[in-house]
Amino acid sequence: MSDPAAALADCLRGLSETLRHHRDLGFREIALSRDPLPEPVDALRAQERALAGCQRCKLCKSRSTIVFGVGSPRAKLMVVGEGPGEEEDKQGIPFVGRAGQLLTKMLAARGVGFDRERDCYIANVVKCRPEKNRNPEPDEVAACNPFLMAQIETLDPRVILTLGNFASQTLLATKDGITKLRGRAYPYRSGVIVPTFHPAFLLRNPGESYKRMAWDDLKLARQEYDRLSGRR
Ligand code: URA
Repeated sequence: MSDPAAALADCLRGLSETLRHHRDLGFREIALSRDPLPEPVDALRAQERALAGCQRCKLCKSRSTIVFGVGSPRAKLMVVGEGPGEEEDKQGIPFVGRAGQLLTKMLAARGVGFDRERDCYIANVVKCRPEKNRNPEPDEVAACNPFLMAQIETLDPRVILTLGNFASQTLLATKDGITKLRGRAYPYRSGVIVPTFHPAFLLRNPGESYKRMAWDDLKLARQEYDRLSGRR
């Protein structure tokens, strides 16, 4: 349409038809703007602030620090462990002890190629250290669950790599052990969960066969990540 006045009239006619249609459907108000979704970095910061000084479960009595999570707020690979260990409790950062060093190497291995800081966001099922690294108890998991779910919701990861029995069983809501769960990808929200061995387990069991299985799982995580990024 070359006449601008006619184009504007056409537009207004369309608008008035739409408004009449909405009125007939019973709408009495039209929202002119919506609050934009917060940026992931702001959402994660707000979640961490909400957790400050947490006393929702008994882990608050023995912890030194709350270990919320670390990594890129835009990461599409999320790594979920069990709970902070001694070193993590001191530093307030997940996976910084021996298991963490192995995890960093596993993620960066040839054919996998994830950079821990650039590509990943790392968190735990519980954000406070269970004494003597015991397994978190159900009330502790339940108290922390909304925070893990909020992290997942914010990041909307393509792949969640769950480390070990505990994280895998919690997110997949199953009692099956890691040996049975690993080796495949499970649809989860808009991505997948890929369970694998916990690096602390691999340190305790240095045999070639577990290493090989973990390597296969990480390659699977990479494949799924690329597939869900539309890169293949
Ligand atoms: N093990 C975990 O599960 N998480 C950590 O952060 C460190 C060790």
